[in-house]
Amino acid sequence: MTDGSPLAEAMEVEESPSTSITPRDPPKIQRLEESVVNRIAAGEVIQRPVSAVKELVENSLDADSTSINVTVKDGGLKLIQVSDDGHGIRREDLPILCERHTTSKLSKYEDLFSLSSMGFRGEALASMTYVAHVTVTTITKGQIHGHRVSYRDGVMEHEPKACAAVKGTQIMVENLFYNMIARRKTLQNSADDYGKIVDLLSRMAIHHNNVSFSCRKHGAVKADVHSVVSSSRLDSIRSVYGVSVAKNLIKVEVSSAESSGCAFDMEGFISNSNYLAKKTILVLFINDRLVECSALKRAIEIVYAATLPKASKPFVYMSINLPREHVDINIHPTKKEVSLLNQEIMIEMIQSEVELKLRNTNDTRTFQEQKVDYIQSTLTSSKSDTPISPLPSGQKTPKVPVHKMVRTDSSDPAGRLHAFLQPKPNNLPDNVSSLSAVRSSIRQRRNPKETADLSSVQELLSGVDSCCHPGLLETIRNCTYVGMADDVFALVQYQTHLYLANVVNLSKELMYQQTLRRFAHFNAIQLSDPAPLSELILLALKEEDLDPENDEKDHLKERIAEMNTELLKEKAEMLEEYFSVFIDSDGNLSRLPVILDQYTPDMDRVPEFLLCLGNDVEWEDEKACFQGVSAAIGNFYAMHPPLLPNPSGEGVRFYTKTSEKSSQEKPALGGNVEMESVLDQDLLSDAENAWAQREWSIQHVLFPSMRLFLKPPAAMASNGTFVKVASLEKLYKIFERC
Ligand code: ADP
Ligand code: MG
Repeated sequence: MTDGSPLAEAMEVEESPSTSITPRDPPKIQRLEESVVNRIAAGEVIQRPVSAVKELVENSLDADSTSINVTVKDGGLKLIQVSDDGHGIRREDLPILCERHTTSKLSKYEDLFSLSSMGFRGEALASMTYVAHVTVTTITKGQIHGHRVSYRDGVMEHEPKACAAVKGTQIMVENLFYNMIARRKTLQNSADDYGKIVDLLSRMAIHHNNVSFSCRKHGAVKADVHSVVSSSRLDSIRSVYGVSVAKNLIKVEVSSAESSGCAFDMEGFISNSNYLAKKTILVLFINDRLVECSALKRAIEIVYAATLPKASKPFVYMSINLPREHVDINIHPTKKEVSLLNQEIMIEMIQSEVELKLRNTNDTRTFQEQKVDYIQSTLTSSKSDTPISPLPSGQKTPKVPVHKMVRTDSSDPAGRLHAFLQPKPNNLPDNVSSLSAVRSSIRQRRNPKETADLSSVQELLSGVDSCCHPGLLETIRNCTYVGMADDVFALVQYQTHLYLANVVNLSKELMYQQTLRRFAHFNAIQLSDPAPLSELILLALKEEDLDPENDEKDHLKERIAEMNTELLKEKAEMLEEYFSVFIDSDGNLSRLPVILDQYTPDMDRVPEFLLCLGNDVEWEDEKACFQGVSAAIGNFYAMHPPLLPNPSGEGVRFYTKTSEKSSQEKPALGGNVEMESVLDQDLLSDAENAWAQREWSIQHVLFPSMRLFLKPPAAMASNGTFVKVASLEKLYKIFERC
């Protein structure tokens, strides 16, 4: 019957009788009755009970209240009552109080930019009277009695009646959406409206800590939100969200001057790595308005995913203050979202601060979590103040033989070769490199696909499980990354053994397994420019060819590229739905899946990937097809050495170009031209960046993710992927003799 839109809902009680118009006649345009127009507008401002509560509470705050109490019956549909101790409403204003566009907060448009009140549109109370029964009781300072009056459709139902009243205003909203049947029904079925109201008041309470709030169900003795006026933000968070949240918070602050491109002050609290939750809570106030900002939320979530070992979602409270003229508060009827000048710069600065704070505390945390089920570290824990987690009760600290005293903490950065040997590339400081990875993933778009529970994927995954090598699994879970031994092998330590681990093979397998696990659930990486398939495949074919000068083959290659493009276009729907590989109807690749958060593959390998999809996948059999595509993605996302040769050591030769030396003073004798080697600085710095970025990813993305997700196949124990090179006890003995 109704599509649930405000228009359809508003029209449904006054059904139009003219249903017999023949299809050929254009329908007659008529002016809507004002009551209908108002009800449509009201449906937009008051979308659910919680929107009414928000408006009422904001009005109370605007009225300088210090105490605001909310009572709710039937999720707000039967009754919402908000009482405050604010300045009240004058008797003479009551007749127009609930008319549309009547406000005491704004008189000319320009006031919008200097406004400090929450409200300004003069629409909230009016809207409520169009979709509910509203009764106002109020008293102003110096009066001996108050007034009570009820409203419907913007007007008073009777003259205000004198009544006894306590300081402030009490507004009752009854039978919300009584005249919008469809909306009432949908809301009646959803039980979570009271929860939303509690959530709203909790958020309000921690920001406005100079006001006491309470929220309870009608008739309940105990309030579900109860805050008292407090001078400390942390105290108010503790009283509203509980000790378990408050004890795990870190203070954050950013202050940025106009010169940085975005002037703002931010202060807040973020959860540390001990805090565990499944859902992010971001309580965000911008210029004291409770707003939502999905870009900031996502940006913070990414930093958490990138920085903390445990997959916990954060609790974040932030209050941001910007010059008023930089915020457009008038883009949303309920003022839920705001538009900010230079939002991106601001988000990046906040991200860096959050990342910095998390890294600092994360170091302490991993230290405390140091494994004690095998050898105690002496190299790292020789300081007496180093916290070491206690052994499970009843166990004694095993006495460690001196020759076994070696570094074994898998998360202690001091133990990494990296820290000693590798000077940080100066154009890539630690936090910048991590941020660029983080930034690249901000451009991700969510892909809201439902679970595809295809049995062939389940079979492939159980295949992964059954091939898993338990010993190797144990080693990978607990190993320490020491450093890169060469372009492909990393040196890792597990207990007292050193291993060489082939990062290309390992990452390929990890990406393959993650592709299967995230099947049909990928976030997407949006390519800034869609890439034409046929050209890329042609490029890959030419690269494969050992004799690229041979023109005859060119035609053939073009044909192959075309055929592959057509094939992939045909499979585009499936590739998009299950793998988030998006190919448009013109044959351009524009989206790729996120396989590991904070990691984007080397885009130089896109041509090879597309060729591999076209050539190597068995499209006819479902299981083989999913396996083939996942393997192609695995290979593409694997951490191969960058295509530019490693500029350290011998590789630097690749970046020298020779040029004739201009030597006018010494004219060349006997036709001997002097040559000079110069470094191609641009290419060199590209290469340095690519290699540094890869090493960063290996250490900070690959190894942590492998510890969490990789099920190493048995073959890796014997095919050279994981090779034991030394046992430290034996080395120790050798050194002892020296
Ligand atoms: P707005 O808040 O945008 O001005 P509203 O419809 O929410 O519009 O409220 C209209 C006016 O009613 C406000 O400008 C304010 O003067 C008055 N008002 C509403 N609620 C209260 C309250 N709790 N205490 C005092 N005045 C109020
Ligand atoms: Mg208001």
